[in-house]
Amino acid sequence: MEASLRRRQWLLGAGAALVVGALDGCSVPNGRTLSGKSAQPILPLAPLRASVDRITSITVCTRPFRARGPCLDVERVGEKTVVHNYGHGGSGWSLSWGSSSIAVQKALTTGEREIAVVGCGALGITSALLLQRAGMRVTIYAKDLPPNVRSSLASGLWTPDSRICYAEHATPEFCQLWENMARQSFQTYQTLLGLPGNPIEFIDNYYVSDRPLTERRVRPIDTRPAFAHLQRELISDLMPRDQDFGIGSHPLGARYLRRSALMMFNISAYSRMLMTDFLMNGGRIEIREFHSPADFASVREKTLIHATGYGARALFGDNSLTPVRGQLARMIPQPDVNYGLFYKRVSFIPRRDGLVFQTVGEDDYYGFGDETSTPDRNEAELAVNTIAELFK
Ligand SMILES: Cc1cc2nc3c(=O)[nH]c(=O)nc-3n(C[C@H](O)[C@H](O)[C@H](O)COP(=O)(O)OP(=O)(O)OC[C@H]3O[C@@H](n4cnc5c(N)ncnc54)[C@H](O)[C@@H]3O)c2cc1C
Repeated sequence: MEASLRRRQWLLGAGAALVVGALDGCSVPNGRTLSGKSAQPILPLAPLRASVDRITSITVCTRPFRARGPCLDVERVGEKTVVHNYGHGGSGWSLSWGSSSIAVQKALTTGEREIAVVGCGALGITSALLLQRAGMRVTIYAKDLPPNVRSSLASGLWTPDSRICYAEHATPEFCQLWENMARQSFQTYQTLLGLPGNPIEFIDNYYVSDRPLTERRVRPIDTRPAFAHLQRELISDLMPRDQDFGIGSHPLGARYLRRSALMMFNISAYSRMLMTDFLMNGGRIEIREFHSPADFASVREKTLIHATGYGARALFGDNSLTPVRGQLARMIPQPDVNYGLFYKRVSFIPRRDGLVFQTVGEDDYYGFGDETSTPDRNEAELAVNTIAELFK
């Protein structure tokens, strides 16, 4: 009751500030003005309580980027067949079902009925579940389990082409592979909507700008290799079209908004669901750290899916894996806020398991080559304060 009153007062206040010369009177959420004439209702965005004293944690994670894209090769290690499934950059959750299904198809060609999965992040757990669905007996061997894996520290959005490879390596074959992975993952995620605990849901996301959205920003010339951006060209049919909102049609001040739909992963509920499904299907888990591929000789299965993410750099000596640091500031959840924001290179996501604020930098090179995992409090506060500006 109190919250809805506060929200109404806030909407009234914001509306009043905006409508001078734009709307006839002060618009209220039901589409009527205070003077009684009808008007377009302003976007009903519940006010976000963004303040640095509400930060509950700051986490840092490393994206496993490979210039050529994920590794799905098959190799022999002693007596074992190893199918790789690692190196998904900033797209690991998004592509997990599609990528793991390719790895599983390759593992099944060995004819083995018992298969090991090494790693229990986004790629390991989805590989394990898909193997079970194909009738295999599966054991996961991993150093750490969720929530103590890198995957648990991701933003939690459907971002299937985020730092997936360099544009120069996005060959027609790679694009076809990527499109298949993205479409298959997307379809699998549709089957996980509306479940208890909301593991997966759609949200509205608002790109917010102080300048008209039609203004083009001139970027300085960049001689570094460009990252591939495939989503718009190859799978734009999967999401609805964007919609623009001008000044006066929303409560975020004298700004311009563009709304798009985003799929969001509430990673705590989602990984718990995946782990529970795996165990209920009779899956086994062994906590084990491998120091070299030769250590695989110690597991009884002859076929393994290897999904150690950035861990593959040390384990397989894959120096083509580049770390890309990313930091999240988490805040107390606010269930009435169900929209995301992107403003001044800061992203806000309304995750049910803790609001997420993230400085994303000028371009995809932000955090590139940085393996450090020490939280940066200043960066976290800057992210929260930037979004808080919108609610002043
Ligand atoms: C800040 C940030 C935000 C991100 N946001 C998103 C997003 O919104 N959407 C998205 O799709 N992706 C996102 N990503 C990318 C995504 O998190 C990764 O692509 C994904 O987590 C990779 O998963 P993985 O299973 O390969 O690796 P991990 O999650 O790192 O799992 C590796 C597993 O292998 C085990 N392991 C490692 N080494 C060994 C060893 N030697 N012996 C035994 N076990 C070992 C680990 O314990 C773990 O169980 C984000 C990444 C970052 C850093």
